[in-house]
Order: sequence, then structure tokens, then C-alpha cells
Amino acid sequence: MTDSRTEIGTIGEFGLIERIKTLTTVTNKNTLLGIGDDAAEILSSKENMLVSADMLVEGTHFDLTYMPLPHLGYKAISINVSDIAAMYGTPEQVLVSIGLSNRFSVEAIEALYEGINAACKDFSIDLIGGDTVSSPSGLIISVTVLGRTFNGTSVRRNGAKPNDILCVTGDLGGSFIGLQVLEREKQEFSANPDMQPQLEKYQYPVQRQLRPVARMDVVNKLRELKIVPTAMIDISDGLASEALHLAKASGVGVRLMEENFPIDNLVFETAMEFKIDPTTCALHGGEDYELLFTIKQDDFKKIEKHPDIHFIGYIQPENEGNILISKQKNVLPLEVRGWAHFDNT
Ligand code: ADP
Ligand code: MG
Repeated sequence: MTDSRTEIGTIGEFGLIERIKTLTTVTNKNTLLGIGDDAAEILSSKENMLVSADMLVEGTHFDLTYMPLPHLGYKAISINVSDIAAMYGTPEQVLVSIGLSNRFSVEAIEALYEGINAACKDFSIDLIGGDTVSSPSGLIISVTVLGRTFNGTSVRRNGAKPNDILCVTGDLGGSFIGLQVLEREKQEFSANPDMQPQLEKYQYPVQRQLRPVARMDVVNKLRELKIVPTAMIDISDGLASEALHLAKASGVGVRLMEENFPIDNLVFETAMEFKIDPTTCALHGGEDYELLFTIKQDDFKKIEKHPDIHFIGYIQPENEGNILISKQKNVLPLEVRGWAHFDNT
């Protein structure tokens, strides 16, 4: 960011919206009218629309002492796109509403929109509007994403059947570990402000926390291979919680195999450094924004070799419950738990 600071008061709310508008380009053919009128206009079709909203509140969801504004903007869009991806849909437009105090300058808001626009470009979506209000406390970002179903059908949480294979994309637990690294740096910095942050070594987990990328790439790959998952959910709260949501919605049980959990090497080592069980991070750490989905056994061959899709378990009848098979082959109940229990052995 530059050193100059323009108070929002000098250009006013409408001036700020004008700035946001000039930073924005519309490319989607279905976006007929974007920012500037009373409402945006979108070409409608017979295919069903998908709509989702997610809000980020300073102090609850992010800490500006270590969250750069461009990353925050990117993340706000990405986590919304992730919800459309989890429906097997195509995101097309976003509305972004912000609550701001006079603590924020025009340049700060431009930095936020730099990230918002970068994400819009990466996911081929248009920013078509929003609202701008003043907030006495902190920064609030509320995003609504609009998307379209693929060939008219969505993949919901409720279609998993016994013997389906449970798949997960990417790797798990990184975002939580990144947060631990950032919190530690923040504490060390407040004790000794001359200290330089030591983040280079932890780049991967830190980036997982600050700038998650929704897995539209995997959705596109599944479409290419003509695989329609039987059920799907995105992982915002940890594998355990999401697997249980999927099981409940589908009226089935899940059987997870710890030995197959994808955990990045650096994430594993950093978890050990923090004396946290890496598996606990995968199961209960949030904000990975990977996809958890189920496929029919017949589809397995088609994605068996995909480097970024991992097979972590099976669907079983509801009366067999939700279980985790540990690396030592112990059968444990799968449950959502807090952080009281740290198993470091
Ligand atoms: P109204 O008072 O009719 O709600 P606004 O002045 O709030 O209109 O908004 C004018 C235009 O600017 C609308 O197209 C709105 O969607 C857009 N807009 C307002 N705030 C934002 C924002 N933070 N980001 C993107 N677009 C915005
Ligand atoms: Mg308005």
C-alpha cells in the first residue's frame, strides 16, 4: 500500500462507490447490468439459480493485524464461491456489502477491492453491486454469490448411499495451523515490536489461512470426467463436522480411515512443533475450503489417479454409525469436538 491516505469523507460514499465501479470489469455474458443502478440485471434461463451468502466480521473472522486487505478481499469471495462449487454449480456474480468506520481510508478500501477483483478474475465472476454503510466498530464484509446449476441439477448433501466412496480434495488442517503461526507471531510482535515476523518457513499453512482458493478446478475436472458426486459439501468447519452433516442429510453413516487423510508435510511438522495432533487439525481445524464428496464405486477408476483427490472412507448404513478407524486400527466414534483434548502421543 502507498503512504498517502485519503479520508473517505473527502470523496463521500458515492465517490467511494464510483471508485469501486472503476476498479470493476464485467465479463460474464449473463451479467446484463452491474454496479450503478438500483439493481443489477442478470439473464435468466431454465437452469436453476444457486444463491449463497457469507459474512466476515472483524474480530470474529479475521484480525487485521496479520490479515492483509487484498487477501481478505480474496478470501471473502473465495469462501462464497466454495459454496457454489459444493453444489456442483458455476458461480457467475457476487454482491459485496461493506460496513466501514473512519479508521479506513480510500486506499485501504482500494486494497480490499484489489483482492476482491483478483478473485473475481480467477473464478470468472462479476462484481455486480452491494451496499456501503458506516460501522462504528470494525470492518464487516458481507458477500452474496449467484451461480447456476450444471445442466440443471445440483449436487446436494443428501444423496450419499452405502458403499459410496468418500473423497476429499487437497489437504486438510493447513489453515488452522497457519492461524496458529500467525497468532504466535502477533504475540511475539506485541512483546517485542522491533522483531521481524518469521513467516517464510510457514508460507504454505499461512497462505491456506489468509488466501484459500475455492476448488472450482476440481468441479470442472469432475464434469470433464462425467462424474456427478452423489453428495457434496465444502469443508469450512473441519472434516468431522462436514462428514457428519453429509451423513445426517443422507440418512447414512460414514467410516473414515485416518491413514488416508491428506496432510501436507509442512503442516504435519508445524503441528508437531505446536504439540497439536495433525489428525486433530484435519478433523477439527476449520477454513480449509476443500470439497468432501461421495462417488459411486463405478466412478472410482476414473479419478483413482488424480493427484489432488484422496479416498478417505466409505458410506455405510445409518445403523452402523459414524466411525473413525485410527492408524492403529482402533474403531473410534466420529464426533465434533473442541480443543480440550490434545493427543500428542
Ligand atoms: P441504493 O441507495 O439505491 O441502495 P447505493 O447508492 O447503495 O444505491 O448503490 C449504488 C450502486 O452501487 C448499486 O448498483 C449498488 O449495488 C452499488 N454498490 C454500493 N455499494 C457497493 C459496494 N460496496 N461494492 C460494490 N457495489 C456497490
Ligand atoms: Mg444502498
